[in-house]
Amino acid sequence: MAFETLRNGCIKGFVFCNMLKIYVLCSGVSKICYRAYLLIPENCKIFCNFASEKIKRVQCLHPRFIYNPLTDMKKLFYLFCAAVVLAACNAKPSGESANLVDKILLKDFNPTVVNNIPVTQVDKAKFPIIDMHSHDYVESAADIEQWCKNMDAVGVEHTALMHCSWIGRPFEEVVELYAPYKDRFRFWCCFDYTDIDTPEGLAKSLATLERYHEMGAVGVGELGDKGEGDLYARPVEGKNIHIDDPRIQPLIAKCGELKMPISIHIGEPIWMYLPMDESNDGLSNGAVWHVDTTNCMGYYGLINTFENAVRENPNTLFIACHYLNMSHDWVRLGEMLDKYPNMYVDIAARVAESAHTPRATREFLIKYQDRVLFGTDNGMEASMYRNIFRVLESNDEHFYIPEYNYHWALSGFNLPDEVLKKIYHDNAERILNEYK
Ligand SMILES: [Zn+2]
Repeated sequence: MAFETLRNGCIKGFVFCNMLKIYVLCSGVSKICYRAYLLIPENCKIFCNFASEKIKRVQCLHPRFIYNPLTDMKKLFYLFCAAVVLAACNAKPSGESANLVDKILLKDFNPTVVNNIPVTQVDKAKFPIIDMHSHDYVESAADIEQWCKNMDAVGVEHTALMHCSWIGRPFEEVVELYAPYKDRFRFWCCFDYTDIDTPEGLAKSLATLERYHEMGAVGVGELGDKGEGDLYARPVEGKNIHIDDPRIQPLIAKCGELKMPISIHIGEPIWMYLPMDESNDGLSNGAVWHVDTTNCMGYYGLINTFENAVRENPNTLFIACHYLNMSHDWVRLGEMLDKYPNMYVDIAARVAESAHTPRATREFLIKYQDRVLFGTDNGMEASMYRNIFRVLESNDEHFYIPEYNYHWALSGFNLPDEVLKKIYHDNAERILNEYK
């Protein structure tokens, strides 16, 4: 159905079926156009184009009214509305929402919370922080200065710089660049897998580990195995070298001797391994970080390699980054912590994956308050830290942190002070002191 009125060469209105958007550029009549629009059943679309303007697209729930005081517009406008109402009468009942659901993409889902509930801004952490998981994100010494200022503003005492193949500089360069700020940063190093298959290569790798330790490395990490081995290693990737590989057990034992904890990223959150379809609860992020395990080890295989290494090396301390990527199963993660006193977890970059189940996470963090370490892994902006503080400290509920890229609403854990203090600081301090 369509109607058209011509004036000054160009005033047109159309009502189309099978479309949802309202296209309208009206003058003072717009509001009534909009009201008329509310009567439009599903599958209708309106164009209203006036001579001196371009066509504008207007969302049905948020029409953008443009005032153009043409003198006799009222008449035209009533004519227009009458046509709209007529169209409405001939169509099915409204299904406007259903149509939007068909059209809005998951990636564009960006809801605004409308609830009148507390919103807590935590500018500075309640207790001093040791950040046990970060990287060399800077370009220059000036960036380090700025980072230190941000750390001061939010209450971070010092930060662990994890060494890895894809973020930051080679170890020696990191040590040199950050030397003037070494009271604010702790260095971690990789395993050197060059020629690891040969006795000479292993000896060299052990020597490198000792040398890095002497240069200030307090631990080894971030190792990273998503199925193909420790590809985070430097200077060469540990292709097909998993953490329980017999070839590297001497290195792991040496870490125990040197009191260097091993920080390792195993797998990815479970949603990255599940089918990428409408049943995937973490689809919006899962699709981005999807792990194809066709030609490599899968999630549970990786967890087993980690468990083997932890069990076989009781004198070496392991820090499973990102809650071992097991925040979907606190029960199993808790069982592992119960079983292996040489295992810790860090919370780095897994706020969203844990704050959509705030009660279960809170319970876990309270129960394992001595075994959890604070970490960020997400740059150096003050706002990045503050997002995490809000989740750990506040009792806020139903809020979104869009940069985490999930469609889940999050809630705070409202952790007790003694638990916060341990996670923020004391557990890390104990490890770093014991393991000095
Ligand atoms: Zn990391």
